[in-house]
Formats: sequence, C-alpha cells, structure tokens
Amino acid sequence: MSILIEDVLLDGERKNIRVEGNRIASIDSKEGADTVIDGKGKAAIPGLINTHTHAAMSLFRGYADDMLLQDWLSSRILPLERNLKPEHIYWGTKLACLEMIKSGTTCFNDMYFFMEETAKAAEEMGIRAVLSEGFVDLLNPDVGKERFQSSISLVESIRSMKNDRIVPALGPHAIYTVSPESLQMVSEYAEKENLLVHFHLSETEDEVSACVELHGKRPVLFLEEIGFLNPNLVAAHSVWLNKEEIGLLKKHDVKISHNPVSNMKLAVGKAIPYTEMKEAGLLVSLGTDGCASNNALDMLETIKFAALYQKAYTGDPTVLPANEAVAMATENGARALGIDAGKIAPGKLADIVLIDLTAPQLHPGHNLVSDLAYAVNGSCVDTVICDGRILMQDRKVEGEDEILERANEAALDLVGKV
Ligand SMILES: [Zn+2]
Repeated sequence: MSILIEDVLLDGERKNIRVEGNRIASIDSKEGADTVIDGKGKAAIPGLINTHTHAAMSLFRGYADDMLLQDWLSSRILPLERNLKPEHIYWGTKLACLEMIKSGTTCFNDMYFFMEETAKAAEEMGIRAVLSEGFVDLLNPDVGKERFQSSISLVESIRSMKNDRIVPALGPHAIYTVSPESLQMVSEYAEKENLLVHFHLSETEDEVSACVELHGKRPVLFLEEIGFLNPNLVAAHSVWLNKEEIGLLKKHDVKISHNPVSNMKLAVGKAIPYTEMKEAGLLVSLGTDGCASNNALDMLETIKFAALYQKAYTGDPTVLPANEAVAMATENGARALGIDAGKIAPGKLADIVLIDLTAPQLHPGHNLVSDLAYAVNGSCVDTVICDGRILMQDRKVEGEDEILERANEAALDLVGKV
C-alpha cells in the first residue's frame, strides 16, 4: 500500500509526501501511488502524541466538574469506577479514539482498567497506543504480588496480538497507592521485559508532604533510593518538584508528561517548573489526562494551555514559546514513548496529520507554528494518517455514528447503576 500526498505545505514549502507501507518513503516524490491525496490548501504536521490519558473516562465527561479534588474523587468518580464493566471500557475508548483522531492525535499513552478492551478498541480504530493496566496495591505488597498478575497478563495478551501499533507497558498508579516493594517489583519486571512504566508523580502538594511524613524524604529522592527512576519511566503531572528532584529526574533520564488542563481544572496550585526542567535538559511531553479532569482530548488545545499556563504562572510571556509547545506534542512525545514518529522525514513512521489551511483561524497565515500553538483547535484537522493508513479524510471517520450512539448508551448504563 502506498499513499502520495501531493503539493502539501511542509516546513514552509510545497512538497509531495510519499508513504509506503507504514513508513514515510520520501518527501519529494513524483512517483504515483495506490492512493493520492490532494494536499493543496493543507499543511502536513506530525501526528500528535498524547502521553497521559485514561481514555475510557470519556464516559465521565461533564458528570462531575468544579469540585474539590478529594470530594470529586470519592463522591463522584470512584462510585462510577466501581461499576465499570468491560463493555464500558470498550465503548468509552472508542469514543476517546474518535475524538483523538478528529483532533489530530495518532498515539496515546493510556493507563486504566480492563485494558484488553482498550487494546481491542485502539486496534480497530487504527490509532497507535501504549497501554498499561492501572496497578494499585493500597500499600500492601502481598496484595501487590497478586494484582500484578493482571498487569503481566495484559502485556502477554497485547504481545499475542502481534500488532506493532499496540505497545504494552506497566502502570503503577502513584506513590500513595502502590507500596515501595511493589514499585520495585514493577521496575524490575519493566527492565527485564523492556517495557515503559507509566506513573503519576507529585501532582499535588499533599502527595509530597505525605511522602515526607512516611519516608522522611520527598517523592523523587525516595523513588531514586528504591531504584524506580529509569529512562523507561514516563511521569505524568510532575508539578511539585524542587531543583534537586529535577536534577535527579534528569540524571536518570525520566520522561515528563505535562498535563496543563488537568492541573488547572483540579487547581493543583502550581504549574510545572518548566524553565528549570528545560535548563536541566529534561524531556517534557504533553498529555490531556482523562476526560473527568480535562474534559477534552484535543492536543492542539492542550498545546495552547501549556504555553499560556507558563506565561500566566511565571508572569513572563517569553516562557514556553510556540515552537517548544508544539514540539512537546510531537517530537518530545515520540521520544518519551520510544516511538519512531514525531517528525515528517523519510524512514519515520507514517503518522501524519493534514491541517485545513482554508479555516479562518489559519488566515492570514503569517506563521504556521504560531497558528498551531495559539490559533487552531482540533476542528482544523482535515486528514489523519496513522501507521500508513488513512483514519480520517475530509473529517469523516468510519463508523462514527455508531460509536457516538453506543458510547452514550454505555455512559447512561454506568450512571444509572450509581
Ligand atoms: Zn492521570
């Protein structure tokens, strides 16, 4: 299978992008192809990469907003989660994938429950995914040993799919829900099996003070002590960090997933120390978090929030400029997840998004990178190609009406049980 995108704007020039199989073959091809896409009036950008999601939480969208974090979690979210069944996860993930594709995302890093369903949904939707079972032992290592089996069985079941687009990972939830013994167990298994570890780190100040009280040191210092900091660790949030902790994260090449919308909505009280992270050379990627704390999965919108949050929080409009914010959602995301994408260049995976340059937000078009960061949102995405397959063209995705209908039914079923 080959695709030729003719006469499309790429890095300021008109180019022909040729895709063969699941890779980009060339960017100056004149050769024909099985499928030809007219790129006039469109710009090609790398598929966006969302490094922190709980996809099936799309069913919770708009169910509980404007509440205090603890109250929100205990009175609204946990009762719903207790009633989750595999079919909720399947349709919730389908809805999330549909929203992601429609807003230009080609890869997501997900942690949740019944992840075999997520794998099935992602496989069918054609999107790339890194998937881990959310692992919690409520600080009891014996419970941890038992429950870790389902993380292992997810890894095995994804591997048996033999689909390079769906990548297994491990998902220890956080320092306050997983015992140190279990964190070590996860880390050792990840190293042995060469897996990414998806984790929530220092989202709130309470989390930091509880760790200091329990272990006598801040979270990153404690995690280093138990050998949990590794290059395969993707740490979501990472808000409440001091300089020493940033240095340690860099030393162990830990990857950060910044979730600006979730952090603002749940009012975690601080923005990530981006300038310090940048100075230290930490890799910062971008994520939305789940739909209960965002409530959208639109990465173009998230790029804008990331940039504005830094400026508003620091009082300095030069912090996190447009090009760095866009790189967070493309190149940096790819590097964080170890995916050979994030750039449009020969040899890279064919994860390509075409932006509709006829949209009013893209006029007069002084600077595309600036427009991507500050002017557009997901509605300006026209075409999405992932792994060399067209998932959306002219904003149409196969089967979208059924997904909306079935996801609505699943959400009503779930809410009705509470
Ligand atoms: Zn999260």
